[in-house]
Amino acid sequence: MTPELLAKLAAPFPDDAVGSRPEITCQPCKVGGCTAHKWAECVECGRTLTTAHVHLDYVGHAYVRERLNSVDPDWAWEPMALTPEGLPLLQDGCLWIRLTVGGKTVLGVGDAPGKRGGVFWKELIGDAIRNAAMTMGVALDMWKREPVAADPVEPEPGQDGQAQPEPAPGDEPAQVDVPDEPAELRERIRDITKRRGRTAAQTAADFTKWSKGRQLLRANTALLAEYLDHLRQDGKR
Ligand SMILES: [Zn+2]
Ligand SMILES: [Zn+2]
Repeated sequence: MTPELLAKLAAPFPDDAVGSRPEITCQPCKVGGCTAHKWAECVECGRTLTTAHVHLDYVGHAYVRERLNSVDPDWAWEPMALTPEGLPLLQDGCLWIRLTVGGKTVLGVGDAPGKRGGVFWKELIGDAIRNAAMTMGVALDMWKREPVAADPVEPEPGQDGQAQPEPAPGDEPAQVDVPDEPAELRERIRDITKRRGRTAAQTAADFTKWSKGRQLLRANTALLAEYLDHLRQDGKR
């Protein structure tokens, strides 16, 4: 493994290679019967699920394979252990593999919760390869961006002393205060569009149309601020 190969492996991916998936952070929510969290349509991902979830960026499995192919066409993986029948051995539903790229071998582990049959195996292998590839630096910056803390229980508006009183419909705040966090911006955008009767899914589609193909969930702060401004201008007409 040369520094050149490592740099190639770690090269950033284009935006369209990156997806976002919700991950539930509360164990009682996962198994059902949680009393601390509500289920609601999420502003960010547009799905209806518990508020105790975060959004994780991930690079699709096909893009990871493409990256490995481009760096070392001879890359290979193998399961760490086999069953007596010669099939990959599972450990607690997980598959451990060895991934070899550019002469260097690392371990990886994958799972595929909720999947069955052939889909289970394909996802399992893809996940294990992605995991091992990350050890070699593929899409490693996304690991760093993964939120570590669980979503706290959502405070009721006004409870934290920061929340502003809910403005009346059509009554946009006069002062232009623009938050600098994407999540907060998306929340403001959602506040406005919700009052205008748009669902989260419609808002996401509106945004994609307005931005000519960008995703609301993946847009950067500047673009979100611009859209928020656009919505506010729109409301004044
Ligand atoms: Zn919960
Ligand atoms: Zn969400």
